[in-house]
Amino acid sequence: MYDVVIIGAGPAGLTAAIYTSRARLKTLLIESSTTPGQAVITSDIENYPGFPEELAGFDLIDRFKKQAKKFGTEFKIDNVKSIKEDKAKKSWQISQEARTIDSLSVIVATGARPRKLDIPGEDKFRGKGVSYCAVCDAAFFREKNIAVVGGGDTAVEEALFLTKFANKVTLIHRRDKLRATKILEERASANKKIEFIWNSRVEEIKGGDKVESLKITNLKDKKEKDFSCEGVFIFVGYVPNTDFLKGILKLDKEGYVITDDDMRTAKKGIFAAGDVRRKLLRQVVTASGDGATAAFASRMYVEGLKGIAYPPLP
Ligand code: NAP
Repeated sequence: MYDVVIIGAGPAGLTAAIYTSRARLKTLLIESSTTPGQAVITSDIENYPGFPEELAGFDLIDRFKKQAKKFGTEFKIDNVKSIKEDKAKKSWQISQEARTIDSLSVIVATGARPRKLDIPGEDKFRGKGVSYCAVCDAAFFREKNIAVVGGGDTAVEEALFLTKFANKVTLIHRRDKLRATKILEERASANKKIEFIWNSRVEEIKGGDKVESLKITNLKDKKEKDFSCEGVFIFVGYVPNTDFLKGILKLDKEGYVITDDDMRTAKKGIFAAGDVRRKLLRQVVTASGDGATAAFASRMYVEGLKGIAYPPLP
């Protein structure tokens, strides 16, 4: 029986692990074998306090992991399939592909995965010109002409990163202005390798063995055109990784977990932290904050079950 099982190895899960392990709770962190975290695949994180120099997401997450291990967190790689209450034991049963384990509390920190466009050619050309990760795939597009779809922080930040490799990056956005933060917009506008196609929707990804062009509709005049490119990076937001929680926790209409300010979910003993939660701002720093709070709340819950909790301060 674990005191706490943390699902997810992003900034929220790893921060929670640092805190629960330091509080001497028996902690297991389950890391997905299939879905990489968003932070780990981010090229450069420039707004995490304390790191004014260039900081790759991979390096930051590696530091978080080392810190959790130092305090005794146990790590397992597996995919969680379901969580079930064991009322008799006042605990939760966490079923993974390889095994089932019991824990007094659970912290869900499963984050979110890239949203797909759901258009013809998207699945067919995945890995053959269609990508959702600039850090992973940019090097395949040296001196090539590529497209980026989306207008948020991710699309613009990753478009800027892709200019280090590609010959030309064309950002295709469905509106006539970006959603991204001003500083990113300024950099993209000043970058000679970046061009914009506004008010346009990508309808289809076309090619032979690999991506060759995109069918685009201008949403103002409804005219269609073929845009020639050798790759397309899609950054149109995220979908929370909560499929295994349907029917167990309260989710909003987009699937994000609803919590209170102390990261408690609708079920006693289950907490949620980071991007998987309904919240205003999804950043590494806010995910870490959530993780610390969830760890503290789960510690109070577990110590309450064991009858060793300190009474709250007056
Ligand atoms: P986002 O902010 O939700 O933006 C998604 C973008 O994709 C929007 O521009 C949206 O268009 C467009 N879009 C959505 N669905 C579409 C569709 N079906 N077809 C075409 N375009 C579509 O997502 P994000 O940029 O991935 O950012 C997610 C969160 O992470 C945000 O809170 C963001 O601030 C944060 N983030 C922060 C940083 C940073 O601080 N450095 C970096 C990356 C991400 P509309 O604008 O028309 O809605």
